[in-house]
Amino acid sequence: MRPLLHPTLVNGRSGDPALYIETLFERRAILFDLGDIAALPARKILRLEQVFVSHAHIDHFVGFDAVLRVALGRGKTLRLYGPPHLIANVQGKLNGYTWNLVDGYPLTIEVREFHGHEIRLATFRATEGFTLRDSEPESLHALPGNQTFAILEEPRLTVRAAALNHRIPSFAYSLEEPFHINVNKQKLHEAGLPVGSWLKDVKQFIWQGQPDAYRFQVLLYFEHRPEEREFVLGEIKEKFLTISRGQKIAYVVDARYDDENAAKIVELAHGADTFYCESPYLDADREKAFDRYHLTAKQAGWLARKAAARDLVVFHFSSRYTGQGDAIEREALEAFREE
Ligand SMILES: [Zn+2]
Repeated sequence: MRPLLHPTLVNGRSGDPALYIETLFERRAILFDLGDIAALPARKILRLEQVFVSHAHIDHFVGFDAVLRVALGRGKTLRLYGPPHLIANVQGKLNGYTWNLVDGYPLTIEVREFHGHEIRLATFRATEGFTLRDSEPESLHALPGNQTFAILEEPRLTVRAAALNHRIPSFAYSLEEPFHINVNKQKLHEAGLPVGSWLKDVKQFIWQGQPDAYRFQVLLYFEHRPEEREFVLGEIKEKFLTISRGQKIAYVVDARYDDENAAKIVELAHGADTFYCESPYLDADREKAFDRYHLTAKQAGWLARKAAARDLVVFHFSSRYTGQGDAIEREALEAFREE
């Protein structure tokens, strides 16, 4: 399977949390957390459409200005998602500047706050000097018994969240492709069919949920000679495509280790291909970690193991362990791979 989601920790294992995820199917990227992002070039910031914030402690939110600065003059809508109070946090940032000469700028910022049973939406437009516009809250239907809830549902991507206890709510996130489509080029070739943009249409029909009986016409090019053909979606699927499980990435930061948090994290990160988990402390300092509402490396390893994650990446190391990154990683991976 060729992975379509490419995650990178903007500041490596030790700097501010920010996980930049590029999607190969569109020129589009997603960011989990907004710590210092000075290391991200402007062209990468411009690809951001959605930013998911865990909570607004400064090391997770100080990068907001950098996104605002780059996005300001471009025609786009930037969407932020996160815990209660995020709207006030964004408003506070915007109120820190004077906006009397931006009425020709096309930037719109939408902020969605997820409360227990409702979603609050606020919009800030450059054309209105970024004054807050409230919308009616939408209700949030979390399934009973589920500890996690959907934040964003698109045909090709789902983002789910869990509200963890960090003395304030700290949101953990997962990003998942519902399924993954591979084209068998060899079989196409054997059937005398060309590759080309018609395959994009086919994938689109599947993402849209069209039934197997769906008939469609496409223009095929046989050595530059166009020819219209009709196909049945189910037949194309059966002969030329492999549909497999999609890729999953989980992201957990700033949470205490307790039964409730652990259960939510395990549910959210279940089966993740890559599980990014904070490990600010070594387990020798687990009491300090608990008091400060953070995880230890060993706890990160246990959680990844319980969640049956395929790979674990630990990060958000505390500066008290400068130079001991390898020891933190070793402790986490030992707990993760323990027999
Ligand atoms: Zn925090």
